[in-house]
Amino acid sequence: MAEVNMEQLLNCALCPNMCRCECPVLQVTGREAVAPAGKARISALVNEGKLAWDEVMLEAASNCLACRGCTIHCPFPELNLCDELLYSRMPAGEKGVSLSRVEPYLNNLRKYSSPYGQKTGSVIASGRAGEKAGGEEVLFFNGCTSLANHPASIEAAKSVLEKAGISYRMIEEDCCGYPALTWGDESLARQLAEENRRKFTESGATLLVTNCPECWLTFTDRYPDLGQELPLKIMDGPSFFLDLIKEGRLSPAENSSAGTDEPGLKTISYHDPCIWARTAEKVSEPREILRTIPGLEIEEAQPSGALTRCCGGGSMFQLAFPETAAAISSRRLQEFPAETVLVTACPFCREGLLAEDRSVWELVELLDRFFK
Ligand code: SF4
Ligand code: SF4
Repeated sequence: MAEVNMEQLLNCALCPNMCRCECPVLQVTGREAVAPAGKARISALVNEGKLAWDEVMLEAASNCLACRGCTIHCPFPELNLCDELLYSRMPAGEKGVSLSRVEPYLNNLRKYSSPYGQKTGSVIASGRAGEKAGGEEVLFFNGCTSLANHPASIEAAKSVLEKAGISYRMIEEDCCGYPALTWGDESLARQLAEENRRKFTESGATLLVTNCPECWLTFTDRYPDLGQELPLKIMDGPSFFLDLIKEGRLSPAENSSAGTDEPGLKTISYHDPCIWARTAEKVSEPREILRTIPGLEIEEAQPSGALTRCCGGGSMFQLAFPETAAAISSRRLQEFPAETVLVTACPFCREGLLAEDRSVWELVELLDRFFK
């Protein structure tokens, strides 16, 4: 993994939390130890050898959603605090210090290549007879959260790809490895990265499309850190789907309840997943898709777009810190107009926003329902 940038970490450690209003973890816990600068102080002191990792320190330094909300008001444009915290935590695992709360999920990963345990379904599918999208052989990657908790999203993705008539495949997926990294097991993350690289290479695909933003970030940013450059291009789901619409492969169908159990959509609010909005800068793409649906209005959450707030699902928080995740989700839900249907483009966000039984669609499900 990359080395810790001590200069940047110390900048943050000495800052009075200029970003305090944007860090969801600080907002809901009120704990200075888990504030951005608090986490940076612990990490800096450990890196300087003045503190040693123990589970209490590690728990505090792991209390980061990697949402990059802190970048909004940060005076240090070069600082990526969530990455510095990640790099700082890596030596803890090497010294045998780990978070007991995530051990069951790490054991699942070791045994089943999924933090959720034994996989119950298969995602293998292909539409090889179709045309190539942009001349590419597409490998569509759903991610372990959809596989474990929301197979309807996978069925929707298959249906959309079939409707678009393109050549695609889905393979038996293993976790991308990000949970192992964020929970400090670098060697397990490396194994998963190697296995994924092997499977992707064997698939013969030239374009990897990810529905899950955590997977996208892991494949684009973390794999090179782990020495695993992937042998294919990587594309985010929202851009890929928008291209299918622009190429005329998908077109909006009637926005009504005719022939279905679902009502038509009148007003929606799009929740921007942090990684798509702030790291991949995909703010306009999902809205362009939504604007093609006849009669659909968008009422924005406040804040939205690049200023979005995390739903509590970043960095597998729903597994590692469920109570904090639920409090963050509840706070985020208050930022949406009261009567709108929520749409998002991330399996973790969907789970986070479902917390109070609001109607939530994943973008891919909406594409399946309202496009032909
Ligand atoms: S992330 Fe930036 S604004 Fe926030 S505490 Fe660190 S240096 Fe200050
Ligand atoms: S990345 Fe998000 S959770 Fe982590 S310190 Fe920054 S604002 Fe807080």
